[in-house]
Amino acid sequence: MKNKLQDLATTMKSSPTACLTGAGISVPSGIPDFRSEHGLWTKYEPSLYGSYQQFIRDPSYFWEMHLDVMVLLETAEPNPAHKVLAALEKKGILKGLITQNIDGLHQKAGSKTVYELHGTNDSCSCTICGKKYSAQKIADHLFSFEKNELIRLMRKGREIPTCDCGGFVKPDVVLFGELMPQALLRAAEALASSCDVLLVVGSSLQVEPAASIPFVAKRNGGKIAIINVDPGPVDMYADYVFWERAEELLPQLVDSMEI
Ligand SMILES: [Zn+2]
Repeated sequence: MKNKLQDLATTMKSSPTACLTGAGISVPSGIPDFRSEHGLWTKYEPSLYGSYQQFIRDPSYFWEMHLDVMVLLETAEPNPAHKVLAALEKKGILKGLITQNIDGLHQKAGSKTVYELHGTNDSCSCTICGKKYSAQKIADHLFSFEKNELIRLMRKGREIPTCDCGGFVKPDVVLFGELMPQALLRAAEALASSCDVLLVVGSSLQVEPAASIPFVAKRNGGKIAIINVDPGPVDMYADYVFWERAEELLPQLVDSMEI
């Protein structure tokens, strides 16, 4: 393992590198993978709580789940894996990050170029006119209620964040059945195809469009390095595979670079 890690470190030092991250990188920060055994989707049925169509009909279900997400995110801090990636960008080795996460922890760690495939929790927009709203203001208002009381009111159509135009206001996270921001996706693919190494951290690569990004890199001659605790379907196409914890392995990788 040590030789493999040293080899990757040497390659990255002389090659422009991009990184793709998934839920696994934020688990040590206290954010469980939505899809894991204890994840949110076991408590909240995605077709009701996470669907765009349902949000448009009745946003109270989404908010019932999202209030839990907001509590988790508010207290979460970047872990060594996020910090190493931010440091690598500062050193000019990492050209940018593509993430499936909505937790904002890469930015909190200091990363600048971050393509958030599933959107962000840091802003909200009207679903009809697109007007932007402060996520913090909406959170402050919602958290002034006791949760069960708030959900009871929302089921009756009250206290639901609503725009001046009458449209429902939604955090800018991509829900099931909602179109991904296409320009952002193209920018992420351009980053992956322009780099010599794509580092994949904490993603099982089972959800599109993230699952295709390693192949975009590979088609353009890039090498793929995967760091994840569990084996995944793209491992067999990767040049480097480490079934390790990213928060432990990434600091070792940087040490091997001697930068
Ligand atoms: Zn509006």
